[in-house]
Amino acid sequence: MQQDKEDNPIKRMAELLRQGATLTDLSCPACASPLFRLKDHTLWCAKDEKKVVIIREGQEPPKQTTPTQNNTTAYDKLETTLMTKITDIQNKIETSQDIDELQKLTITLTELLNSVEKIKKMKA
Ligand SMILES: [Zn+2]
Repeated sequence: MQQDKEDNPIKRMAELLRQGATLTDLSCPACASPLFRLKDHTLWCAKDEKKVVIIREGQEPPKQTTPTQNNTTAYDKLETTLMTKITDIQNKIETSQDIDELQKLTITLTELLNSVEKIKKMKA
């Protein structure tokens, strides 16, 4: 664990969500982090801190056929589960006014985002 130099992208992700950005199922072409859709519909990579343009949005990128696809399926499932939880938590964060609860939610969200990022990297 030596990622101090980049000022914790996960924290920035949590912050984006608090500001009303939504997590998409797209990943950054450069670093494979989950991308966010900002309120003005811009796709944003919280890790690179830059706007990302996906040419054919909404279309599945062609899946690479590698000999071992089993792991990918397991990761996909896990990722879907995590994304569902993230959405749940995001909704709770939007409605909660309780500072303690918000803090707990943010920590959970941070951990979930971390996991999703790891899965995306393993899949990449
Ligand atoms: Zn990126």
